[in-house]
Amino acid sequence: MTDSLTRFVFEYAPVKGGIVQLDAVWRAVQGHADYPPPLRRVLGELLAAAALLTSNIKFDGTLILQLQGKGPVRLIVVEATSRKTLRATAKWTGDIPASDRLSDLLGQGNFAITLDQSQAGKQNYQGIVPMEGTTVAETLAHYMQSSEQLDTRIYLASGSERVAGMLLQRMPDQKSADTDAWNRATLLADTIKSIELLSLPPGDVLMRLFHEETLRQFDQEKLSFACTCSKDKAGNMLKMLGEEEVSGIVAEQGQVEVNCEFCDRQYRFDAVDVAQLFSSGTHFEVPTSRH
Ligand SMILES: [Zn+2]
Repeated sequence: MTDSLTRFVFEYAPVKGGIVQLDAVWRAVQGHADYPPPLRRVLGELLAAAALLTSNIKFDGTLILQLQGKGPVRLIVVEATSRKTLRATAKWTGDIPASDRLSDLLGQGNFAITLDQSQAGKQNYQGIVPMEGTTVAETLAHYMQSSEQLDTRIYLASGSERVAGMLLQRMPDQKSADTDAWNRATLLADTIKSIELLSLPPGDVLMRLFHEETLRQFDQEKLSFACTCSKDKAGNMLKMLGEEEVSGIVAEQGQVEVNCEFCDRQYRFDAVDVAQLFSSGTHFEVPTSRH
């Protein structure tokens, strides 16, 4: 099964992890913009990373991974929901250098993780760190170490047809006689090649790496592409622009269009829609979370 997450734990050691492979999701993400290849690769890696982290969403909510910079690439954002859906987009200007280094694409940048569980009545969480490391995997591992004190190793591979990734985490607060397990697991995991992550079934990857360990493998979890945009949300964006500006556009062009940058869907509002929007009487509050 592709477009899935396979989680596993070491039966006798405090180590857990997951393997993800995305095909249709990756095609859907790529289908909405013509990303330059170096940016496409990084976007794919961040998508695989978000898919690996979906198991960290404990309540109804959304996990948002963002790389922000002032280089030719301004923003890469991936959202994963507790319903195991993913969406992603990026903003860039001009030519993108053919480089493997994140800093060549984004310049001095920040990496942010937001966990929005407000739907479930839980507090939102956001952590922002300066972008460290040359790759998405290094940046994420650094974030996990510095912000969550979690020993994490992450491996990401981004191809044109498929993206894949593997995550290893040392489980905290567990008394285990096997103090060498984490070192052993990461030494073995470090031998994985991108082509293996992209082409081998998850069970084969685990067998190839950890055949001397006892692993428990869980049922595969299906992941899919889905956008959470709607005409209501597009209308809220227009309300933030204000009646004067929106009515001005309608007077000039006959309608106003809001384009979803995640799925490329267009929401059109004509003069009647706009009049309804601003006369609905509902008090509009600027959302505290990102829209
Ligand atoms: Zn959308």
